[in-house]
Amino acid sequence: MTLSNIESLLDAESLVLLEKMKLLEEVFWFNPGIQTTHNGLKGSPFTLEDVQDADERLKRFAPYIAKVFPETKLSNGIIESNLKKIPAMKQKLVEIYNQAFLGDLWLKCDSHLPIAGSIKARGGIYEVLKYAEDLAIEQKLLTPKDDYSILASEEFRRFFTQYTIVVGSTGNLGLSIGIMSAKLGFKVSVHMSADAKQWKKDLLRSKGVRVIEYEADYSKAVEEGRKQAESDPLCYFVDDENSPHLFLGYAVAALRLQKQLKELGIKVDENHPLLVYLPCGVGGAPGGITFGLKLIFQDHVHCFFAEPTHSPCMLLGLMTGLHEKISVQDIGVDNITAADGLAVGRPSGFVGKIIQPILSGAYTVRDQELFTLLKNLVDTEEIKLEPSSLAGMIGPIRIWQERNGNLRKYPLIEKINHASHIVWATGGSMVPDEIMEHYYKNR
Ligand SMILES: *Cc1c(COP(=O)(O)O)cnc(C)c1O
Repeated sequence: MTLSNIESLLDAESLVLLEKMKLLEEVFWFNPGIQTTHNGLKGSPFTLEDVQDADERLKRFAPYIAKVFPETKLSNGIIESNLKKIPAMKQKLVEIYNQAFLGDLWLKCDSHLPIAGSIKARGGIYEVLKYAEDLAIEQKLLTPKDDYSILASEEFRRFFTQYTIVVGSTGNLGLSIGIMSAKLGFKVSVHMSADAKQWKKDLLRSKGVRVIEYEADYSKAVEEGRKQAESDPLCYFVDDENSPHLFLGYAVAALRLQKQLKELGIKVDENHPLLVYLPCGVGGAPGGITFGLKLIFQDHVHCFFAEPTHSPCMLLGLMTGLHEKISVQDIGVDNITAADGLAVGRPSGFVGKIIQPILSGAYTVRDQELFTLLKNLVDTEEIKLEPSSLAGMIGPIRIWQERNGNLRKYPLIEKINHASHIVWATGGSMVPDEIMEHYYKNR
């Protein structure tokens, strides 16, 4: 895509945003193409039944998960995180940014999901389980009525050893796919981009995972993974750019969140909007969750994606309508960011097309801001997140800054003091202490 082609697709307002994005300035984009949820979901390839089916599959696997990952015993093998109110951080945000903060601030702690310590413990683990189930059922070794803890047997492990699972990743997806696949007995190869942190590679190797490293970015790692799998029929490629299974695994989060909100007495209705801020890389995790939330809360939920100023791929794909046909490099942006989980230059077109009519908006955030937020969250709430995971935290502040602009087009401002803001924390609990210390000081 050439720059003049891109510019010819944009209206005056979007051209202003594009100029700022080229200069790595922070921007806020409200989606002019958003539709009523009812209409927006019509064109989607999935339904609520698909999400419920994924949820049922995870329940079938729960006895197995509880058996092989003792840290999930308390939750009976269900991999889930807390929804935590963070009032001290809310107060801090008011102080630092010197502005009002209307509504309650909640943190969805996927940063502390068991097994893989990131949001990838949803979609990534789900896809590996789905593949394992398909194989075992096809070979008549398993039926959906069985107690799946039998999968922990030596016999099953030997069966899965025949197969290889392959994935390309900036780090966290590799961790989740690698840990889960190795536990079941699969051979597994993770193609890692240059952004991937050394400790993530070391951890995977310690679990017997084959890690292949590249000097290039995420798109190259995915491409090489895809190539490896193509030539081998016993090889299964987890396609982060196009996978319906990853997407549905992430979407299950919405069913779980609905239950948590009920338990906590948090209202979501006409007068009590739910605003959700999700860090976005290639789009699968935030896209799947947005899809699930819109299915459940319809027009009462408003989802916003957060990306680094150096990697605003999904925003670019949505704003131009070009989706996977555009990369940040096409507008001269380098895709180099400390937010390794979000270091993606080209968005998923599969996800972009589903969310185009239902996403409320997207914004970009500077790396330095992520470190400031990281430090303040530790200081106020003693919660440690990795840099990527903080991108959503500035969302409620940025929304309010837009109150005299495009936010006025939404029926939100007058209700915002009854709003619940959920910042989705996407990773951090597995970061080694000395690296966290370094993040903390890097503000
Ligand atoms: C992967 C990741 C995301 C975003 O998920 P995508 O599916 O790539 O959009 C956000 N935060 C962290 C920490 C991640 O690892």
